[in-house]
Amino acid sequence: MERGTPAEAALEEAHRTLALTSEERAGLEPLLEGIRRFIETLAHFRARSSIDRELCEERLGLDEHLEPTGFSASDVFFRGAWDLGFVLADGRVAIVDHKASRTKDLKWHAEQLRAYAIMALAHFPALRKVWPAIHFVASGEIVWGRPTNADEIRSSLRAWFISWINDAAARASAPDPQPVVSRFCDHCGYRPHCPAHTMEAAGERLVQISTGRAPLLR
Ligand code: SF4
Repeated sequence: MERGTPAEAALEEAHRTLALTSEERAGLEPLLEGIRRFIETLAHFRARSSIDRELCEERLGLDEHLEPTGFSASDVFFRGAWDLGFVLADGRVAIVDHKASRTKDLKWHAEQLRAYAIMALAHFPALRKVWPAIHFVASGEIVWGRPTNADEIRSSLRAWFISWINDAAARASAPDPQPVVSRFCDHCGYRPHCPAHTMEAAGERLVQISTGRAPLLR
């Protein structure tokens, strides 16, 4: 890593303010080259695009009618946070999500990207088209998904979204819903209430309790 680059500066700042252990620092090092490449790509994108608004860690919400509302509003029904968003002067909205995982086919993130498109149209009703992308940080690769125009979001994505939510709600309200322990548990906001997990009072060490059902991933 070239010294003095933004990625190097970010690592130094993290090391200073978060007091990273050598192990944590070693875990970050492999990502730095990918971060440097992303910063360069971003600079080129900014230089050649007419950007009306740039969003970073933008937290958005939808109410039960899929109308825009605040991420923490009392009527929020669905919420999400965009790592990066660009509202372009020509009516396109580009949304970039960072993933620390190795590069994967976008089909593994299809629901998330579709939900972002619904949120984009709700919050930016004048948009023409949404371009979603995943930035795989370790490789520095940016994989763009299929662009979706506003008519398609209105005519078919909204119907898919409602059925997706209803299916999930039906599974959750089944007579004997079972938690499925997976790698997603680390990011799950319901973990403190989930019967598959409990936190030891003293040590913050995760204990998995028996659910009577084999976890999907161990
Ligand atoms: S913590 Fe529980 S509710 Fe959350 S993803 Fe894991 S099993 Fe599902």
